Amino acid sequence: AVRARFCPSPTGNPHVGLVRTALFNWAFARHQQGTFVFRIEDTDAARDSEESYAQLLDSMRWLGLDWDEGPEVGGPYAPYRQSQRMDVYADVARRLKETGHAYDCYCTTEELEARREAARAAGRPSGYDGHCRDLTAEQTAAYRAEGRTPIVRFRMPDRTITFTDLVRGELTFEPENVPDYGIVRANGAPLYTLVNPVDDALMQITHVLRGEDLLSSTPRQLALYEALIELGVATTVPAFGHLPYVMGEGNKKLSKRDPQASLNLYRERGFLPEGLLNYLSLLGWSYSADQDVFSLEEMVARFDVADVNANPARFDLKKAEAINADHIRRLDPKAFAEACRPWLRAPYAPWEPDAFDEDAWQAIAPYAQTRVTVLSDITDNVDFLFLPEPVRDEASWQKAMKEGSAELLATARERLAEADWSSAEALKAAVLAAGEAHGLKLGKAQAPVRVAVTGRTVGLPLFESLQILGRERSLARIDAAVA
Ligand code: GLU
Repeated sequence: AVRARFCPSPTGNPHVGLVRTALFNWAFARHQQGTFVFRIEDTDAARDSEESYAQLLDSMRWLGLDWDEGPEVGGPYAPYRQSQRMDVYADVARRLKETGHAYDCYCTTEELEARREAARAAGRPSGYDGHCRDLTAEQTAAYRAEGRTPIVRFRMPDRTITFTDLVRGELTFEPENVPDYGIVRANGAPLYTLVNPVDDALMQITHVLRGEDLLSSTPRQLALYEALIELGVATTVPAFGHLPYVMGEGNKKLSKRDPQASLNLYRERGFLPEGLLNYLSLLGWSYSADQDVFSLEEMVARFDVADVNANPARFDLKKAEAINADHIRRLDPKAFAEACRPWLRAPYAPWEPDAFDEDAWQAIAPYAQTRVTVLSDITDNVDFLFLPEPVRDEASWQKAMKEGSAELLATARERLAEADWSSAEALKAAVLAAGEAHGLKLGKAQAPVRVAVTGRTVGLPLFESLQILGRERSLARIDAAVA
């Protein structure tokens, strides 16, 4: 049975590249009716934080990417936080050394750097040169006497490594390009290079989907896996698939530090999890040639790693917004009205909490649902209902309040005062008639009315907005604008 995993390090805020990796592994596991394992790679005490750990869990819950094994859920291979598994790694490192698959390396950073420079200058491969591979007992004793503390290095086999990448097909690595590498620091802390494959082995992971940036660690991990099989730690080697890079502005790789990459930004702007995931799924995959809006269930039903494209994917915020808007339209109206709640309160909403009117919200929500792109758009669209005075957007006033606007507003006010407020059509007819009296088409006539009542030139359908605000308040705002 398929066992896929998502194993982030809790450093900093979650970013969209990470979410895409989580999504592809999750969708793959779900499609295969396998197991989705969530593991926290927090062995780097200097970079990992509890806050970031909490954020990762919260983000996964918000996205709806549920896990079968992992933090808070447990599972047969618990614990799923690597910081709680240090004895496991120490034990494996010791056995790798005992069996000659790893060795103590006493080279200092300066020595390594000097030899690397020399190799580069001579046009030779500049990776680790095997200096400490076969130290004699005397050499070891001498280094120790100097007070050096060794790192542990894995001994790469001297042969070509080939594997079939699930996305890229057959890949070959020559030994001179994959030198021996560190697995334990001088202070005894195990490195990613060790803990990641050891846990994949112990947790029986069958498929590893991860970013292309990790491709160079795959031949190392395959060699380590063979050693782990020999030790009885691993039983089989997982299949690997490397997801394409995501390119941002200026065709540069989207960096974690790019503000556009921050997951929190999308949450705060009011992306729906389904909308965001739908968009992120298209970074390297496609649902079909003629459909790019679909539900998570639909994605799961079709997802196959074999369809992942190896070419870099371009991050396109406009497209992400358009897809999100489609998901907003698809929501059940009740679900939409509920999903908007955070943006109807502080710190997003500028009105007094008491001024919020549930009936008015329920009445206006359907008009907003067909128009907003992200849920945070809602605040500006409905603030006229809950603020004592409309927001005065200067650019809008300049644009709409021209010569003759005061006269038009006076006529519109008269007509509106006589109109039947139970009918939006009647209000429209009133403004239309006022416009005719001044030689203006409806569009030109309604602009000052809209600005007087809502403060802005653009917004939700005007006549329904007037109705929901109510006759008294609407007329008073027109009076205030003319005064
Ligand atoms: N903890 C690693 C990272 O976040 C996991 C990489 C992998 O999937 O192997 O980069």
